[in-house]
Amino acid sequence: MQEITALRELLATPKNILITTHHKPDADALGSSLGLAGYLKKKGHHVIVVTPSDYPAFLNWMPGNDEVLVYDEKTDARVRHLINETEVLFCLDFSALSRINEMGEMVRNSPAVKVMIDHHMHPEDFAQITISDTRAAATAELIFEVIRNLGDEALIDAGIGECLYAGIMTDTGSFRHPSTSRNVHLIIAELIAAGANTARVHRLIYDNHTLTRLRFLGYALKDKLVVHPEYNTAYIAISQEELKEYDSRTGDTEGLVNFALSIEGIVFAALLIDRGQAVKISFRSVGDFSVNEFSRAHFNGGGHHNAAGGISHDSLEATVAKFESLLPQYREQLIHSA
Ligand code: 5GP
Ligand code: MN
Repeated sequence: MQEITALRELLATPKNILITTHHKPDADALGSSLGLAGYLKKKGHHVIVVTPSDYPAFLNWMPGNDEVLVYDEKTDARVRHLINETEVLFCLDFSALSRINEMGEMVRNSPAVKVMIDHHMHPEDFAQITISDTRAAATAELIFEVIRNLGDEALIDAGIGECLYAGIMTDTGSFRHPSTSRNVHLIIAELIAAGANTARVHRLIYDNHTLTRLRFLGYALKDKLVVHPEYNTAYIAISQEELKEYDSRTGDTEGLVNFALSIEGIVFAALLIDRGQAVKISFRSVGDFSVNEFSRAHFNGGGHHNAAGGISHDSLEATVAKFESLLPQYREQLIHSA
């Protein structure tokens, strides 16, 4: 509530506002950003959304998408200028500045008032206003509550509602993860009341595959899935050549790790992808086994208890070998996690 009071004071007069979110934005990252942007514009602020990288094409239907500025070598100078000149800087859906790459230092050094709204573990202390709640299913849930607590729920329209719905829908795994609280369903009811077309959002995000992406999924499940029943673990490792062969685009591997986790008895799943500069890893678990701790301890990453990411600068083969070599020491935990 102290944070809401500070936010209300900060937003009492029209401001220049920059909103950013994590590398390779997912639906929660982009939906939170564009949902908040839509609201702040209605309040008379000047708002720009900047992402530290590109994002999947299945997110480009969101209202405001056309005005998103994507950071790269070409936009570097402009982004640097905007971050330095803006009055307010919102950091959404990440808790560590390393998650926004080169933009991290620009944000750290910016004189703007910084506001973090996030639901990841271990928030860094770089913002003047930090709204961090790991119990929230999605950052979009927190955005809804911030708008409500500012007394502006009536300003949530169909477009803002669909942005927030997309974030909550995907971060709850379509309302199946334990994070899907009563509060989540109550918020969804309000978004529907505001006019959000939920069926349309599902279709645009989940039923929008290119044929090659679907073939790639088939290949990964048939030829690449490795299962270790003795550790209740399954993983998929994908090389750069395989990504190229299937003309893989940003977002094409999204959700793949969940197939490994969906096997009966599997409580720990990983997806390891050679992106060239590094091997990027997605971890998922069910029950007590903490992939946040596993990733922090061994793969320089983190996230949530049951969903985390990490990175490796070894080769794909060496990263897989390291992953495999770690399993025996977690055997007890993996066998009893359910
Ligand atoms: P995903 O596997 O979908 O990329 O990420 C799963 C969760 O872990 C997301 O909430 C994401 O923000 C977080 N995450 C992904 N990669 C990293 C990382 O390298 N470091 C940290 N701290 N979190 C990550
Ligand atoms: Mn999120």
